[in-house]
Amino acid sequence: MQAQSGMYIGGAWRPALGEDTLPVVNPADEQIIGHVPAGTAADVDAAVAAAREAFPGWAATPPAERAALLGALRDGLAARKDEIAATVTAELGAPPAMAEAVHAGLPVVVAGSYAELAATYPFEERIGNSTVYAEPVGVVGAITPWNYPLHQIVAKVAPALAAGCTVVLKPAEDTPLTAQLFARVVHEAGLPGGVFNLVTGLGPVAGQALAGHEGVDLVSFTGSTAVGRQIGAVAGAAVKRVALELGGKSANVILPGADLARAVNVGVANVMANSGQTCSAWTRMLVHTQVYEEAVALAADAVAKYVPGERMGPLVNAKQLERVRGYIEKGVAEGARLVAGGPEAPLEKGYYVAPTVFADVTPEMTVAQEEIFGPVISILRYEDEADALRIANGTVYGLAGAVWAAEPETAAAFARRMETGQVDINGGRFNPLAPFGGYKQSGVGRELGAHGLAEYLQTKSLQF
Ligand code: NAD
Repeated sequence: MQAQSGMYIGGAWRPALGEDTLPVVNPADEQIIGHVPAGTAADVDAAVAAAREAFPGWAATPPAERAALLGALRDGLAARKDEIAATVTAELGAPPAMAEAVHAGLPVVVAGSYAELAATYPFEERIGNSTVYAEPVGVVGAITPWNYPLHQIVAKVAPALAAGCTVVLKPAEDTPLTAQLFARVVHEAGLPGGVFNLVTGLGPVAGQALAGHEGVDLVSFTGSTAVGRQIGAVAGAAVKRVALELGGKSANVILPGADLARAVNVGVANVMANSGQTCSAWTRMLVHTQVYEEAVALAADAVAKYVPGERMGPLVNAKQLERVRGYIEKGVAEGARLVAGGPEAPLEKGYYVAPTVFADVTPEMTVAQEEIFGPVISILRYEDEADALRIANGTVYGLAGAVWAAEPETAAAFARRMETGQVDINGGRFNPLAPFGGYKQSGVGRELGAHGLAEYLQTKSLQF
């Protein structure tokens, strides 16, 4: 995939207004694979102006027409699946099978869901003697992370466009090539100029300019809690809508009577996918004391299948590698028992970490509290259900989770008491229409399905 040297603004690639560029590095071999422009506040101004200009026309476009264009976007993403997968492999390091199935496959499903929702969503309803309209909020500033580069973009852009909003996207600096490819697909799908705009660049420069821009009506951010907090504060000061999808430290609660081998194996797969760089990953495994050692042995066996450089890719960059290694060292220093992996580099080249399992983790340890964002599982012991619930709810986060029990009803009853936004019961099954988002410090707002669309709407009522 050839890097673009400009920004996609107002329906065309335009030269960047600054001189600086950012290198894009393949984390599997540390080679530079391209350069993209480092956007400035002036680039953001131009993109926001284009989005503002396009907004009235797009907002007035009948939902059925918006739906048809989103359908064309879905088809374009499907047609370029191979190229998307190869690009994500090149800049994120995702193994090809994962890149094809998830990184390229999931956005097709999500874009398709919004093509349907745009046509069927109740943008108008009668309540007594009132007609209530759901109207687009306006210009959206979307700021996305690198961990699922295309999914994170589509999960914001598709519902925003379905709602009738226009968008300026500032993608993560580590994965801008996927974002540029997305802009090409938008262009080929025939979306009107200015409806979608792309400014690549650094978070504290282009991202900050976008989040604080007075021409932006809603900021939708996914990334770290630290940056989310700043964006929330800026948006709050301007009384601007904000959606934040932040970190997690989700619990995989294995209740007595559950199929232990399945719960452990699926739990390990959930964390190891994408090298642990998933905000909803079930990074804390909670096991009853009676079957604890059995679960630890099963987990150690299961992670052995995730061979770095084969089934498991690298971390995205050197900074994340240092961060994750630091957490592993801290786990050891605080007294957790290392049963697999460790901080040593498993390969000579690339930002790889060995799949790591900690046992004898207690709830107050750093590896049980903080988001590591690497292939690291902490296994905690509980005595009874009340203890399990206290541990499960005992972090500042509440994004996802899993509960396993002999009967799904038992697991569901436990899940209802968890302070978290999404829970898989006995393994669950991914539902692209189910709302996804955080309780507590995991965020504000929801993505996916009709709930994700509603984030981009405001309501007006007329009384008759
Ligand atoms: P980050 O929050 O710094 O980056 C996310 C996005 O925000 C990027 O596009 C970045 O350019 C932008 N950004 C950074 N600073 C900004 C600012 N001041 N104003 C506006 N935009 C800004 O995340 P990171 O440094 O890439 O990763 C650090 C940690 O964040 C990870 O270890 C992980 O814990 C967490 N994270 C979470 C998710 C998630 O899906 N929830 C995704 C990526 C990272």
